[in-house]
Amino acid sequence: MDALRQLPAVEHVLHDPALAGLVAELGAAGATDLVRRALDARRGALLDGADPAPDRGAETAIIAAIARSLDAQPLRTVINATGVIVHTNLGRSPLAPEAVAAVAASAGAYADLELDLATGQRGSRQTHVGPLIARLTGAEAGMAVNNAAGALVLTLAALARGREVIVSRGQMIEIGDGFRLPTIMEQAGARLVEVGATNRTRLDDYASAITPETGLILRAHPSNFRVVGFTEEVATTDLARLGSERGVPTVDDIGSGLLSPDPDLPGEPDARGSIAAGADIVLFSGDKLLGGPQAGIIAGRADLVHTISRHPLARALRIDRLSLAALQATLRLHSDPERARAAVPVRRLISAPLAAVRQRAETLAAATGGEVVDSAARIGGGALPTIDLPSAACALPDADGALHEALRTGSPAILGRLEDGLLLLDCRTLLDDAEVAIIAERVNACR
Ligand SMILES: *Cc1c(COP(=O)(O)O)cnc(C)c1O
Repeated sequence: MDALRQLPAVEHVLHDPALAGLVAELGAAGATDLVRRALDARRGALLDGADPAPDRGAETAIIAAIARSLDAQPLRTVINATGVIVHTNLGRSPLAPEAVAAVAASAGAYADLELDLATGQRGSRQTHVGPLIARLTGAEAGMAVNNAAGALVLTLAALARGREVIVSRGQMIEIGDGFRLPTIMEQAGARLVEVGATNRTRLDDYASAITPETGLILRAHPSNFRVVGFTEEVATTDLARLGSERGVPTVDDIGSGLLSPDPDLPGEPDARGSIAAGADIVLFSGDKLLGGPQAGIIAGRADLVHTISRHPLARALRIDRLSLAALQATLRLHSDPERARAAVPVRRLISAPLAAVRQRAETLAAATGGEVVDSAARIGGGALPTIDLPSAACALPDADGALHEALRTGSPAILGRLEDGLLLLDCRTLLDDAEVAIIAERVNACR
């Protein structure tokens, strides 16, 4: 087949100027490997009837492009002008400078991760965060694992494997991406016992479901939806009292990770409140409202936290060293709520006065010829789904979405919202004035 004879040699493709960057980054061996794979793919496509290129030069360019596409995509910086603060697809929380510094300080050296330097004996990585988690939540003990879904699986496996777990039908949540509570329960080897109705569950429903088989009562915060109207939920206090009377631990998965009540986030459950209400274990994420790295936090009764930490799954779900460093630094900032509001990026974005957000939108609009419009930002990450945060956006005409595409695919990537032929660049989620300047420059370069 002529088309196959026209395929260039590996060496020939490697010297194509379009691959100079790839060769410099991966070295000759890595680049050669990618070019071989690209040639195989192209050969397969031609055998399947793809149109051959007009000449060998064009064929080489096609193969070089395939080789580049086969390389792993680097993580690219994104300017978040979507108005969604805890944006899971964008990595949820940017870290505070203190947390970034802690990661940088620990990353390139050895650390006393699991070694007690005072005695020279083996230690636990939890000593670096456990006492802080306990103090900030008012619990007896605390620990951290890889993420909150992991914390839930681990807690269920450690405290209720082979036993029943009582959950209200109003709290049968899907955490995201098809990850549902019944599935998690099954994986942890616990048996789900649903009680009540979607909109109403009473204390009696729980009480009559408790049997000698009951391992625990689980409360899960319906973080990404709200049941509104004719509803009834059992307060943690009542549930915890029932549990303690009947000798059944109560586990409260609050999801978003508020440590204590926050005037900026009315109605959002907090770990301290849940522990004070009597929950035996509270679970939450490290990278939602806490504004730290991906992590799952477990706080509560010392004996239960100990049991959880000794379960074999704890090893599989353990938090890594860099996240641990970032989590410790973030938790330290939360020791002072005022400081956290200023230093932890997601908290700063949530509490920023509307006037300051609007000021940024005005600067951006003046620089790009856009128009300032009112906007509604969202917390995201499954917190306060029904609450809009007042915000301001710079609106630019973008009927076919071409401007948004150019901004999204450039460097840094810039993400906004397309609404009714307008590109809205929401200024509540911009981290600083430098991002405003970059957006303005990029928008103007696109036109
Ligand atoms: C987000 C959430 C989780 C999962 O947390 P990850 O840190 O993403 O694993 C679990 N439960 C609730 C209620 C949540 O909101």
